[in-house]
Amino acid sequence: MEESCKPCTGEDLEEILEEVWTALEQRNETPAAGARVTAAGISDEQRERLVSEGLALHSDRDLVLTEEGFLKARDVIRSHRLAERLLHDVLNLNSEEMERSACRFEHMLGNDAADSVCILLGHPRSCPHGRPIPPGDCCVAGETMLRPLVVPLTELDTGETATVAYIGTRDNARLSYLTSLGVMTGRPLELVQRRPSYIVKIDESTVAFDDAIAREIFVRPVHRKKREARGWRRRFRWRDGRS
Ligand SMILES: [Zn+2]
Ligand SMILES: [Zn+2]
Ligand SMILES: [Zn+2]
Repeated sequence: MEESCKPCTGEDLEEILEEVWTALEQRNETPAAGARVTAAGISDEQRERLVSEGLALHSDRDLVLTEEGFLKARDVIRSHRLAERLLHDVLNLNSEEMERSACRFEHMLGNDAADSVCILLGHPRSCPHGRPIPPGDCCVAGETMLRPLVVPLTELDTGETATVAYIGTRDNARLSYLTSLGVMTGRPLELVQRRPSYIVKIDESTVAFDDAIAREIFVRPVHRKKREARGWRRRFRWRDGRS
């Protein structure tokens, strides 16, 4: 996926802040309170709005982000990029749909909802474009709970039990095939073998899946011990190529 992560366009203050944040990143500056915002890309009217809302201060011909402006910008960027991950990884949307929806999601995700998405996805560090996702409170707390709540079947250890969370496919035929085998949301299962194919025990029957199908079955592991989670962190890398 392309490296850019475009800010949403709109007249909303949140979108203007997004623009400001992205511009700072593009200049390789770490967005922070006190960061200087050049006039480029921001209209006079937008500058006045940022200042009148206490989100920025005038400084010569530029603006400087206030603490409040920084925090608000950080939250909207975090919501936008978490939404991208959710829409891309979980809902399998193509990049155009992902962008369109992320621009709406970011305004709907409050901090608590953003944290829930973050926990669900295992505290991802970057969006699908590779841009950093500002960490939230959950990420700090998450240091002791490293494994995502929901993982692909392929991440289970042999003998581990889990319940089916969702099937990550847009292929209806495959979905009904899996349903006919009893692989449905909320169903408990146990992974009994990983190679040469994934063998899963559901109720009293065993079913085999190849790697491609196993990757589309997302499960919520039942037992999560800290010791296992630590070892697991070493071998698991979120699909962002950065961490
Ligand atoms: Zn992005
Ligand atoms: Zn956005
Ligand atoms: Zn988090």
